[in-house]
Amino acid sequence: MAQQETEKVHLDDDGYVVDTEDCEARELAHRERGTVRPITVVGNPVLHRELKDVTEFDDELAQLIDDMFASQKAAEGVGLAANQIGVDLKVFVYDCPDDEGVRHTGVVVNPKLVDLPADRRVLDDSNEGCLSVPTAYASLARPDYAEVTGQDAQGNPIKVRGTGYFARCLQHETDHLYGYLYIDRLSKRDRKDALRQMAENTPRYETVPNE
Ligand code: ZN
Repeated sequence: MAQQETEKVHLDDDGYVVDTEDCEARELAHRERGTVRPITVVGNPVLHRELKDVTEFDDELAQLIDDMFASQKAAEGVGLAANQIGVDLKVFVYDCPDDEGVRHTGVVVNPKLVDLPADRRVLDDSNEGCLSVPTAYASLARPDYAEVTGQDAQGNPIKVRGTGYFARCLQHETDHLYGYLYIDRLSKRDRKDALRQMAENTPRYETVPNE
């Protein structure tokens, strides 16, 4: 197979990744090179511990990212963390609309959530779900704006920012890489209810059975 031309990441004037251009073509190129892999679910140890930092920005990482886009699409997700296909590395991909309905598509390696000043922390109470807690949804308050720093697939430093549902996605996916699911942020009662929803329904995508 021919070597892929390296996808260049564009930055805006403030140094944030431009992730709103050519979304359709970029997402398609990734998933056409990728393989759909089954999704791990709550209880699988890989979802409940901090993952390893990525140190090699090589073809293997590129293949992982392609597999993650393919798996995200197959499961109809808007974001996917590497441990959701069983891989112990800090990587997430996203394909998610913001509060204005603008589509954002990209990948973040070794992300860290940026602490925001109190005046930027406006909480938004919306429904949240996770491919690793199939078929369940619960309301969860999160800041309606988020920023992450990290690296692109080649190891260059990047920043990503988002509003609305995309802000929620950035927080949710970063949480995954540190071993947290959104249900870990719910009250005991809401968590139990989410697990009950999961137990009562069948996901529309392939999952990895727990031991
Ligand atoms: Zn999730």
